[in-house]
Amino acid sequence: MLTNDRIVLKILKNNKRRPLSAYDILDKFLRIKRIQPATVYRSLKNLLEQNLVHRINQSNKYIVSSENSHENDVTTIVVCEKCNDYEEINVNKFKMSLAYNILDLKNFDLNDFSVEISSQCKNCKT
Ligand SMILES: [Zn+2]
Repeated sequence: MLTNDRIVLKILKNNKRRPLSAYDILDKFLRIKRIQPATVYRSLKNLLEQNLVHRINQSNKYIVSSENSHENDVTTIVVCEKCNDYEEINVNKFKMSLAYNILDLKNFDLNDFSVEISSQCKNCKT
């Protein structure tokens, strides 16, 4: 039997090009199994910790992580402001730290960070 975490991950995988809110996930989950909303949040928290899922902060939605990211990568998610389509870029953490001058930060020590870029996808631009 699939664990709740696996079911949440599967729901996100089945909706690959579309970020889902926790409520969207709950809605789909309830078609499979009766659960409390807190179950979805708990699973999302586990999956985020395992880096299997990313949260898009500007829309508070979730996407499945791409399979070609490495342990030392920082994920940048580029999100279309119009249609919510997204693309994920994975860059080595050290290269990224240089690019953003993270070592010069005074009040932050970023061991873990993520970057989000808002833009418009090619389809929406034309
Ligand atoms: Zn778009």
